[in-house]
Amino acid sequence: MLKAKDIKEKYVRSHPSPFCPGCGGGMVLNSLSRAVEKSKLSKDEIVAVSGIGCAAWIPSPHWRVDTLHTTHGRAIAFATGVKLGNQDLEVMVVSGDGDCAGIGGNHLLHGARNNVDMNVFMINNGLYAMTGGQVAPTTEHDEETLTTPYGNPSSSFEAAEVVKAAGAGHVARWTTYHMNELIEEVEKAIETDGFSFIEILTQCPTRTGKKKNMSGLEMLEWYKENTSKDQDTEKIYVGTLSKVDKPELTEQIYRQIKEAGGDPK
Ligand code: SF4
Repeated sequence: MLKAKDIKEKYVRSHPSPFCPGCGGGMVLNSLSRAVEKSKLSKDEIVAVSGIGCAAWIPSPHWRVDTLHTTHGRAIAFATGVKLGNQDLEVMVVSGDGDCAGIGGNHLLHGARNNVDMNVFMINNGLYAMTGGQVAPTTEHDEETLTTPYGNPSSSFEAAEVVKAAGAGHVARWTTYHMNELIEEVEKAIETDGFSFIEILTQCPTRTGKKKNMSGLEMLEWYKENTSKDQDTEKIYVGTLSKVDKPELTEQIYRQIKEAGGDPK
């Protein structure tokens, strides 16, 4: 395994980082890079697609793979096009919770339903961080945000459970506290021929931390104390939620084109 400085040199573009001190974005980038290194996937085989938000900065400009930085909420739609265009590519979407489950929620549902072969990493910090900390579908009920100063009147959207119900091939949830488990789950996602969705609870000390009076480190400790690998507790479950075999969309389309006498390429 490469050392930390070699991982950085091989996988990280050396831009000045836009991430705030203590942000979990760099930890996610580290996990993705280490998983790719362990998987023996070539960087040339990867296309990382992102929308808009702090999480979108993880691949673009930071990850040293081919990237496609698209419009707000549309990363999964663009990623579907990339996969249909070239089945041999390993397509990865890195998206924040507002981008993925809010603005892009419809694409998320249908990407999962169609089991399109891609890996979606939803970086969940529970609000729209980049634009100032507005309420998102993933914000907990009663939680104060910039736009819910008296507490969030809505219920929180359980994205991983919804994606599981929509029929994705592989669904999991981890946090930035669980780096080793996260790396292993990303490897599983790479091996899955279908829609893999990993929700990553990620600390945002600048927005959520400020509201809760917690540092980045304290938020990591909160993840440690309030998550469990046992589903029969009141804590937030972390681990694989679902793994099913079902037809994958691009395979079906390529097969139909061939059966009709055409060449999908
Ligand atoms: S606002 Fe939050 S998510 Fe965005 S870079 Fe700062 S700490 Fe990270």
